[in-house]
Amino acid sequence: MLRLPVLLSLLSSIAVASASALPFALEHRLASPDEFSSSSSFKDLRLRQDFGEEEGQFEEEEGSSSEVALTIQSVSNCLVSGHVALTFDDGPYLWEKEVASKLKDVDGKGTFFLNGNNYACIYDHADTVKALFSAGHTLASHGWAHKNHSLSTYDEIHEDLEKLEIAFAKILGIKPTFYRPPYGIITDLLLEVLVERGYTSLIMWSDNSGDADGATVANQKLTYDAISKSYPAPHLSLQHSTKDFTSKDTLSYSLPLLKKVGYKLSNLDTCLGLVGASYLKIGEPGVKDESWVC
Ligand SMILES: [Zn+2]
Repeated sequence: MLRLPVLLSLLSSIAVASASALPFALEHRLASPDEFSSSSSFKDLRLRQDFGEEEGQFEEEEGSSSEVALTIQSVSNCLVSGHVALTFDDGPYLWEKEVASKLKDVDGKGTFFLNGNNYACIYDHADTVKALFSAGHTLASHGWAHKNHSLSTYDEIHEDLEKLEIAFAKILGIKPTFYRPPYGIITDLLLEVLVERGYTSLIMWSDNSGDADGATVANQKLTYDAISKSYPAPHLSLQHSTKDFTSKDTLSYSLPLLKKVGYKLSNLDTCLGLVGASYLKIGEPGVKDESWVC
C-alpha cells in the first residue's frame, strides 16, 4: 500500500526535503454555500503550505505553484433538518448487534466509528462488522488502537490509520473516508496525515451523551430530552457501543423518544446529504485467513 498517496502526488513538482517537516498552517473558514448545503457547522480545515518561507528548506521548480491547498472538512453537526445521527465509538466489542437491533426497531440507521484493536480485535468481530455494513449503517475510522495522537509521531499516525484501513479492506473491501479522532484530540500533524491518506471528513459531534465520561443513564436521558425538544433542529450525538448501559437502557429510552417527536435516526451519510461519501469501494471483501489477527 502506498503510504502517501495524496500529498506526494500533488507535490510531485516540488522538491521536499522531509515530508514530516512541512510547515503546515491551519486555516479555519466557513464553507461557501455551494460547497455544502447550509450550515456553519461545516468548517473547512484547510492545510495550507507556505513553501519557501523558511529559506533553504524548500525548493520550487520553475513554474510550479507557490501554494498547494489540501482540505479536510470538519463536521460537528448534521445538515438535514429533522435528522439525528447517533454515532457509536470504540467498537467492535459486545453490544453492536444490540444497538443495530434497537435502531432497526425505529427504522433507523447509525454510524459506528470502529477501532482495530481497542476493546476487542476487529478481526474477531468481522461478522458483526459485515452485518452492520450490510444493514446500511455508516462505518468509519476511529484509528487502530485509540491513541492520543498528540503524543504520536508522523509515522505512528500513518501506521495507526493504515492498520485499520487494511482491516476495512480485508473485511469489507472498502476504504473509509470519515474519521473521528480518539478523545476528540486534533493536531496539525494528524490533519496532515489524514489529508495525505485521503480522508475527507473529520467528524466531531454536537451532543455528547457523556457515557464514556461517567454519565449515568439518568444523566444521558437529559441529553436526549433536550434534543427532542429542539425538533426539527439536526443533531449529531456521541455514544459508545462499548457501554452496555448505553446499548440497552439509554437507547431503549432515547430512540422511541426521538422518533415520537418526529426525528429520523440517520446514518452520517444521510444526515450530511452525502450518501455514499463515507467510503471508497476498493475491492471485494476477503476471506478470513491467518493474517486476520491483531
Ligand atoms: Zn473513542
